[in-house]
Amino acid sequence: MFDSLSSRLEGVFKKLKGHGKLTEKNVEEGLREVRMALLEADVHYRVAKKFIADVKARALGQEVMKSLTPGQQVVKIVNEELTRLMGESLEDLNLSGTRPVSVMLVGLQGSGKTTTSGKLAVYLKKKGKKPYLVPADVYRPAAIDQLKKLGGQIGVPVFPSETEMDPVEICDKARTAAQKAGCDVLLLDTAGRLHLDAELMAELVRIRDAVMPSDILLVADAMTGQDAVNISESFDKALDLGGVILSKMDGDARGGAALSIRAITGKPIKFIGVGEKLTQLEAFHPDRIASSILGMGDVLTLIEKAQSVMDEEKAVELEKKLRKSQFTLEDFKDQMVQIRKMGSLGDLIGMIPGMKTNKQFKNLDVDETELVRIEAIINSMTPHERSHHQVINGSRRKRIARGSGTQVQDVNRLLKNYTQVMKMIKKLNKGGIRGFGRGMLP
Ligand code: GDP
Repeated sequence: MFDSLSSRLEGVFKKLKGHGKLTEKNVEEGLREVRMALLEADVHYRVAKKFIADVKARALGQEVMKSLTPGQQVVKIVNEELTRLMGESLEDLNLSGTRPVSVMLVGLQGSGKTTTSGKLAVYLKKKGKKPYLVPADVYRPAAIDQLKKLGGQIGVPVFPSETEMDPVEICDKARTAAQKAGCDVLLLDTAGRLHLDAELMAELVRIRDAVMPSDILLVADAMTGQDAVNISESFDKALDLGGVILSKMDGDARGGAALSIRAITGKPIKFIGVGEKLTQLEAFHPDRIASSILGMGDVLTLIEKAQSVMDEEKAVELEKKLRKSQFTLEDFKDQMVQIRKMGSLGDLIGMIPGMKTNKQFKNLDVDETELVRIEAIINSMTPHERSHHQVINGSRRKRIARGSGTQVQDVNRLLKNYTQVMKMIKKLNKGGIRGFGRGMLP
């Protein structure tokens, strides 16, 4: 996802960062390249144009922040505007109304509607809801069978629709059946066509008016780029969508649809499909996506992961230390151990802010042997050295290297990385989590 856009933007920002002071000309040149990068990512031209105008107005009006260089300020503004473009914050399913509520899924044939119905059923089950699947596509008997099979796999009841029934009648009867089965959310998998079609729209409007769903979601194929945007616009005009689910994001390297849909239709993207499996549905967090596009890593996901691994007491203790900027080398070692518990280091590295792009972090080797080495080095330090790293002079470094069976360069590297982390923590204390990300901008 967003790979090419990500690397194009990285190049643009590297150039901007090279200037100590930014002139209007530097900013304009940089933004021209950002615009090209957006267009290449298949972002709608109207969206790209407005985006650049907004960033430029803010960059030149410059809300100056002392902790950032001018280049970093531009990155910060682009990050915030990208987030805004995609809708600011997460929007969940709308399930308000008298139980059972209905969620209507619409979309073209092949967009992934039936698969997504199954994915949503899994998602709702995880949240403690009782979903009920309703095949309402009477034109394709295979669609009914497909949903029945999916329901069987995930243990979710499916209404026994028949091709002779009218879709409105199906939805009506399904509601009574769901109520009887003790279910609280009906997922209506409606008919699709290969192309937009007035007859289909009329049928969908008829279903909507009869069922009064709490949410209407369009499933659109991200790989179709601008087509997905146009389709969203048409379905929204006819049905007044509650939101969009972009399927097949795993196959879309450009990301144009994800970046344009909100701006063009005004409707949020609520979920993305990232694979064929029924668990491969993710909530759409605009801020996280923007950060990952800019290579700042998925800070919040990382923090959430970290929280689920760290035991409560340790977390509270660590937070206190972070607040007082008393994070010692001993704590650094504990963190390494925690990081190992979190699973694949490869996955984690991309989520650590600055890791993808920050040169200083490129030499923080992350294979298991490096972690073992770091632990050995810290173990060779005296308790005083662990809590007062400033005292570790040349001769102490030699002793520590000898004691841990490593080289002085290894000790130097560790101390350098540690001081980097300390700087990050100081920024975190100044500006909260947002400041954490900002401090790590390339
Ligand atoms: P429908 O005609 O809209 O109901 O589409 P289907 O649910 O039958 O999906 C069409 C094809 O897209 C199937 O082969 C699905 O496995 C595939 N598909 C659906 N969602 C995703 C996704 O998020 N990623 C990938 N890679 N494939 C998907």
